[in-house]
Amino acid sequence: MSETFVLATHNPGKLREFDKIAKRLGFIVITRDEAGVPHDFDVVEDGTTFEENSYKKAHEIMLMTGMPTMADDSGLSVDSLDGAPGVYSARFGGVDGDSKRNYEKLLSLMEGMEGDERRAHFTTVITVCYPDGRTVTASGQCFGHIACEPLGDKGFGYDPVFIPDGYDETFGVMGPEVKNRISHRAKAMEQLEKHLEEESKSWNSLNSNTL
Ligand code: IMP
Repeated sequence: MSETFVLATHNPGKLREFDKIAKRLGFIVITRDEAGVPHDFDVVEDGTTFEENSYKKAHEIMLMTGMPTMADDSGLSVDSLDGAPGVYSARFGGVDGDSKRNYEKLLSLMEGMEGDERRAHFTTVITVCYPDGRTVTASGQCFGHIACEPLGDKGFGYDPVFIPDGYDETFGVMGPEVKNRISHRAKAMEQLEKHLEEESKSWNSLNSNTL
């Protein structure tokens, strides 16, 4: 996979993780800034699904850069809260990107909940948009439960309150080595690698058949 993709995100936590996972899988990724997108340009995330928002981000940045562009939309869903905060994860506490407010609101809503009531999962949907109109999508999930109090300062977002299945510490304590192997984002990138391979095979055979 030697193609270069623009990563349509400003979120430093996501950027760090994408960079590590991309290197492991052999993707070449550059930031929006490196691709010349004005720093204050924001894509309005007004979709109601992860799919819609990730497509919107990838498509708009692809139109600006003229380069293959990759965007993820992600969030945390708590079963006993009917999937909230879901697509609204980034602004759940009322201020966009204020992680502490977001997880404090979540913990207060979940006060007194026990066992399976604390089940939750992260979802990531990644969309790649090409200038020639092709679109490739992949997704990944990571299941676990919500801790009763925040622990750890590694990672970003809800990491201090999320304990993945099979572990007894939060992503915030665990750190990137393990998280980047088991996370929703890692799974989505692994699926994306497969989908991009299939896509390029069918694109090449379509083009050689039409010559
Ligand atoms: P997005 O930029 O709309 O995709 O916002 C995703 C939000 O979901 C982030 O701001 C975080 O609050 C949360 N989130 C997504 N992925 C993670 C993760 O890996 N760890 C912790 N929080 C995450």
